[in-house]
Amino acid sequence: MEALNRTLEGIKARGEAGLFVGGEWRTGHGEVHLDVVSPHTEEVLLRYREATPADIDAAVIAAREAFDTGPWPRLTPPERGAMLRKVADQLRARLPELAEAWTGQVGAVLGFTKMASGQSPDLFNFYADLCDSYPFVDDRRRSSGGLARVVQEPAGVVAAITPWNAPLVLLCYKVAAGLAAGCTIVAKPSPETPIDAHILAECIAAAGLPPGVFNMLPAGRETGDYLVRHPGIDKVSFTGSTGAGKAIAHACADRLARFSLELGGKSAAVICDDAKVEAVLPSLVPYSMPITGQVCFSLTRVLTPRARREEFVDAYVSAVRGIKLGDPFADGTGMGPLTLERQRDRVEGYIGKGKAEGARIVQGGGRPADLNRGFFIEPTVFVDVEPGMTIAREEIFGPVVSFIDYDDEADMIAKANASDYGLHGAIYTADPEHGYRVARELRSGSLAINSMAVDIEMPFGGFKQSGIGREGGIEGLKTYQETKTIYFP
Ligand code: NAD
Repeated sequence: MEALNRTLEGIKARGEAGLFVGGEWRTGHGEVHLDVVSPHTEEVLLRYREATPADIDAAVIAAREAFDTGPWPRLTPPERGAMLRKVADQLRARLPELAEAWTGQVGAVLGFTKMASGQSPDLFNFYADLCDSYPFVDDRRRSSGGLARVVQEPAGVVAAITPWNAPLVLLCYKVAAGLAAGCTIVAKPSPETPIDAHILAECIAAAGLPPGVFNMLPAGRETGDYLVRHPGIDKVSFTGSTGAGKAIAHACADRLARFSLELGGKSAAVICDDAKVEAVLPSLVPYSMPITGQVCFSLTRVLTPRARREEFVDAYVSAVRGIKLGDPFADGTGMGPLTLERQRDRVEGYIGKGKAEGARIVQGGGRPADLNRGFFIEPTVFVDVEPGMTIAREEIFGPVVSFIDYDDEADMIAKANASDYGLHGAIYTADPEHGYRVARELRSGSLAINSMAVDIEMPFGGFKQSGIGREGGIEGLKTYQETKTIYFP
């Protein structure tokens, strides 16, 4: 906790100034004080004043000025890239803080957050490199009347709204790509986990980006709604639940504001009949319940050939039983708590529904008896799950996995696709080309054969109700651009 304590001291030294607007730290005008609560000790880590609509107005004005008359969108892409590399350097220098802030607020185990925090500076470096290589101006186009240049302009002022489970990485997808495109940003991180966004604002300030290019206000749902509807916002980039995504799409429709949505998932791990147990477990076990199951791409539906179900369930359950629950900072802990008390209520509600609808628990199902504080829940495995059951259809966002039997390949594909979601998935098979053919049949934004993979340099996003648009890779830059054609008849 040493690095996190250092971060908290820095934040507390600014008093109540928890918002970063126009290049300055400011105090929110909210009457309400919000608490950041440690999910494993239940102690308050930080208390701050919520941002209000008046604070949002100030941030949008600052971002608008920085976009309409400031230097940022007018720099050449390589000039912007050079600044993004400075942000990456700042973030990289603070990696221990990034990992501890993630663990301290979310409860993700430190080994995981140490491994994954490097994605944040990597995102800034990746988009910095694209600033050098991407064809922002295509001057080789010919129109019928002569020459034309097709240019990629920044989409404008972006509202970047993020959830609490992976607070910095998810924000950096948006901020790094949006800034590379030449946009300016008003970020509204989740009110429960704002510490990472403080660190990002500090890094952006230290890198010397012009005032107003990046603004940050932690706030709740109502203030988020005000931001989305603000006429000064050109584009909303949202990551969060499908329900909130739909509300945001409605709000944007009024003035045809651009939006992209990274939403929920109910991803399938499809185990083909030729797959070997030992080839499945190394990725299925960690990625069916990463961050205590609070990751959008978790492999929460496991489809097994009916005749081999016992073999896979037994092996999976014995691996899951070996996961040690406890303090996410401690060596040897394999799973931390859920992030929020209300999230534990939600997960327990789903476990109750699973039982009531006839599914059978073969592992877990309750709170661990030996942990008397923290929002812990046992890793839980259901069998006899039918595709129509609530636990097979809805995103639980906790360590709850459903095993579903299938009869033949057509049944396997139909059951994998029997979901409103389509975010991610894994296919286990002895023949990777067979896996590829199955992957082409599955209605999901990404799939991994015999493994689990999410690479920041590749597009990520959802089919169906898992979202609209892609983040990461070149596609993640395009979502912050508008195409303009200039004719030279
Ligand atoms: P949430 O939808 O409740 O909130 C996400 C963010 O949106 C928060 O900052 C919240 O304050 C804000 N918000 C909520 N309603 C809003 C509205 N109407 N207008 C403006 N802002 C609003 O989600 P959560 O509980 O914080 O996060 C969990 C969800 O996020 C899960 O569904 C998970 O699958 C999803 N998620 C998706 C991805 C992805 O890349 N597809 C990644 C991580 C999490």
